Amino acid sequence: MAALPFRCSCGTVAGELSNAPAKGTHLVCYCDSCRAGANYCGASMAAGTPLQLYLTQPEHFRITQGLDQLAPFRFSPRAITRWQARCCGVQMFSTQADPKLPIMSIVAERLANVGALGPLTCKAFVPTSGGKSRHEGKWALARSVIAALRAKLNGNWRKTQLFDVTTCQPIADVILVSKDDKRALLS
Ligand SMILES: [Zn+2]
Ligand SMILES: [Zn+2]
Repeated sequence: MAALPFRCSCGTVAGELSNAPAKGTHLVCYCDSCRAGANYCGASMAAGTPLQLYLTQPEHFRITQGLDQLAPFRFSPRAITRWQARCCGVQMFSTQADPKLPIMSIVAERLANVGALGPLTCKAFVPTSGGKSRHEGKWALARSVIAALRAKLNGNWRKTQLFDVTTCQPIADVILVSKDDKRALLS
C-alpha cells in the first residue's frame, strides 16, 4: 500500500502514514474536546461541527521533518494529548497521555489526499436528542482498540516519535489549558 503523506499548513512538519486506510479508522468526532482543541489551534468550529480524523497506531506514522516544532497540549493532566505545529499553529495529531496506550490520530485535513481514507466508518459522540451522545460504527472503533492492545502487548507501542519510551513522557513540555480557557474555546 502506498504511503500517504501529511504536512502542517506551512510544510515544516511533514511525514507519511503507512497502511492507511487498512489499519485504521476514518471517523468524525463530535466531542467538546475535539472542537476545543481545533479552536485552540486557530480553527473556528461552531457547536455541532465534528472533527474529521484518521485513527491508527503510532507504528504507522513516520514524521520525517519538523519533530521539534510539535507542541503538546491537554485539557486536563491525564487527558488526551493533542499536538500543535508551532510553526503555523495547526493541529496535527492526538495521542493518549500514556504511550503504552498506543492510539494516535491525525486531523484528516493534514493529509495530502483525504480521499485515500475512503468512506467514514465511525461517528463518535454523536449528540442525541436526550442531551447524551452515542457512537455510530462501534465495530470500526473496537477494531482500533484491539489493534492498540496488540501493539501494547507486542512492544510496537515503542515505535512512537512523540514520547521518550524510557520515561513515557512526551518529547516536549505539555501545555495544560485551563477549564476556563477550554470553555471560552467552545463559546
Ligand atoms: Zn473527540
Ligand atoms: Zn507549519
